[in-house]
Amino acid sequence: MTIAIASGKGGTGKTTLAVHLASLLAHTASVTLVDLDVEAPDDAAYFPEDSTLASEKPVHVMVPELTDACTGCGACAAVCHFGAIVAIKGSVGVNPDLCKGCGRCVSACPAGALVEKPVRIGMVTARSGSGPHLVEGRLDVGDIRSTVVIDAAKKTARDTNSQYIIRDCPPGATCPSVKAVHGADVCVLVAEPTLFSVHDVTAAARFVADLGIPAGLVVNKAGEGSADPVAAAAELGLIHLGSIPWTESMARAGAAGRRVDDDPALKGTLDHIMQGILRLAASQGNEAAS
Ligand code: SF4
Ligand code: SF4
Repeated sequence: MTIAIASGKGGTGKTTLAVHLASLLAHTASVTLVDLDVEAPDDAAYFPEDSTLASEKPVHVMVPELTDACTGCGACAAVCHFGAIVAIKGSVGVNPDLCKGCGRCVSACPAGALVEKPVRIGMVTARSGSGPHLVEGRLDVGDIRSTVVIDAAKKTARDTNSQYIIRDCPPGATCPSVKAVHGADVCVLVAEPTLFSVHDVTAAARFVADLGIPAGLVVNKAGEGSADPVAAAAELGLIHLGSIPWTESMARAGAAGRRVDDDPALKGTLDHIMQGILRLAASQGNEAAS
């Protein structure tokens, strides 16, 4: 089962939930925690004891280069969805920084004038130890092609064949977040009781619904703010999976990048959330079967 942990805005506690859920499940099942927040991955820091590197693979895109065979017909520019090739009056230019390596231009070129060369844009690493398998996607500094690295990290996580794959997704409701959530069995949206967070999680809930993925809400720092994410979630048809109350010890641990596996209240809350996730997944399975 693949569980995507997402949020509207950053800093809501999405990573806190992902690492603790993965850590808890790893006691009784095979689990892979994949960090898809590729611009600032930090899940591995929560597992300093699991530092054995299993694999390290650079992520490349195949960027086309023009050769002398180009006739300037412009067919390549017409099929590029990303504005990475421009053809004006027979003059053709490729912007390698915008290229997503889809290969459409190469197929469209009638003169065979484009040659693909690999350009590195990031790295996917895998670690294993006593807890969950850890997969991390990391975008190279200055690059913007995060969705390609997200795809590569998702594939590495799938290849572990773990019983549970927990995806720690990037915040927001734009392409990287959609790419990270896409294909999950269940999505858990994390919100704080603030107006800003409720507004943003609403946008995230809409794209998750468009993807046809069953979703539930977890409220983090419950009792701290004045907004009501549960009421907003109910309006969107999201199930309230549980609430994690704000405590000083949780706040300190989060700031230090530490897990608090030994907190019995948190463990009880996580068990409750996981039961809700399993019910959500089962209800979807029933719907599909009916
Ligand atoms: S490979 Fe795709 S993204 Fe890159 S230039 Fe060609 S059509 Fe555009
Ligand atoms: S499609 Fe090929 S021949 Fe035509 S402009 Fe592009 S690279 Fe040149």
